[in-house]
Amino acid sequence: AHLDRIDQVDGAVHAFLHVDTEGALAAAKKVDDDLAAGVEVGPLAGVPLALKDVFTTEGVPTTCGSKMLEGWRPPYDATVTRRLRQAGIVILGKTNMDEFAMGSSTENSAYGPTRNPWDLDRIPGGSGGGSSASLAAFEAPLAIGTDTGGSIRQPGSVTGTVGVKPTYGGVSRYGLVAFSSSLDQAGPCARTVLDAALLHEVIGGHDPLDSTSVNAPVPPVVAAAREGASGDLSGVRVGVVTQFSGEGYQPGVLRSFEAAVAQLKQLGAEIVEVSCPSFDYALPAYYLIAPSEASSNLARFDAMRYGLRVGDDGTRSAEEVMSLTREAGFGAEVKRRIMIGTYALSSGYYDAYYGSAQKVRTLISREFEQAFATVDVLVSPTTPTTAFRIGERTGDPMAMYKADLCTIPANLAGNAAMSVPSGLSDEDGLPVGLQIMAPALQDHRMYRVAAAYE
Ligand code: GLN
Repeated sequence: AHLDRIDQVDGAVHAFLHVDTEGALAAAKKVDDDLAAGVEVGPLAGVPLALKDVFTTEGVPTTCGSKMLEGWRPPYDATVTRRLRQAGIVILGKTNMDEFAMGSSTENSAYGPTRNPWDLDRIPGGSGGGSSASLAAFEAPLAIGTDTGGSIRQPGSVTGTVGVKPTYGGVSRYGLVAFSSSLDQAGPCARTVLDAALLHEVIGGHDPLDSTSVNAPVPPVVAAAREGASGDLSGVRVGVVTQFSGEGYQPGVLRSFEAAVAQLKQLGAEIVEVSCPSFDYALPAYYLIAPSEASSNLARFDAMRYGLRVGDDGTRSAEEVMSLTREAGFGAEVKRRIMIGTYALSSGYYDAYYGSAQKVRTLISREFEQAFATVDVLVSPTTPTTAFRIGERTGDPMAMYKADLCTIPANLAGNAAMSVPSGLSDEDGLPVGLQIMAPALQDHRMYRVAAAYE
């Protein structure tokens, strides 16, 4: 049924870069056969899922939204992919994304934009716009994204779906094409909080193949989602971050947020105002740290190891081929980031840019710690505006970057954060998201609050 639905609507939505009909039907049949043979299957066995094209899938195209990897079929599965398969989850295909996960609208994909199912003239968020749009268009009930600065939560917010960035290290990065390794985090996308929790427990947990993977049990997110569903939040202290409002925030988004806070209070939560002044510097710090790491990570696309190779006609040096390939294979935003990153890391500028950004990062972590000494979770709007129009911000990188104003602090500190649907804006009738943040390894706290609120 989901493959049929994809056939019907994906021409308009373009959530998928590759639909793996054969693989999906074979995976579904395996679950049927297991059930018929009395083999025990996991709680999500047979449930279809859309996988962001940043994860390697053995033998199945993986492009990362880039021309650089067009036609590449990885020889191995990412740990996330492997865990999904082992759980009997049916991978429908690979979803569209901003090239190498750089963007907030999916317009930076080399394969054309994804459209928001709520209004096809608008963006579905980014970089994981394909994953969230596939949920909103009912092409898949579950999806996987990655969140470096907001790429799970912001698309969740603007498509009216749930998006979770687990604690950094909570889900393996093995086989995830690296953008900014100290920030990248894989996580679940779904239409309900409980669905996201069930998927979280399938993909989460220690992985010896990822040196930054946390060696601790997966937080009890399913139990927390079930507990929260009772709707009782008495005893829970919720902090409202005062920095996340004011200039750049749509009044409709702020009104929705106020209503959300009032609802949390009605459910029994105690509401406290919390000030985190360094959060004002999160965006500039991120746009130094993320491009710095990206400039190093993307050095592997050298025209020799995999993917595109341009101009290799026997007359050119390896360096010339590399340069022609990178010129042709990378899009404008990726090139911009590589230039910013190499500049920020160059001797003479390192202390002023990269060094300062790392200090800001430390301050942000400290302010989170101070805040969580008095509250259980923090809340804010997920993103300052509802879905903007396709093309509206493509000429203005700063305007694009501001979509992640509220989501970036959690990446810099490494703690858990999620977006849960918060109704429709009274300004334009488009979905708004409520962001809930929790301390590292306390992911279950935000699931409980989200499930109560939902
Ligand atoms: N929009 C942010 C960026 O462009 C975040 C991307 C992400 O989380 N992958 O870097």
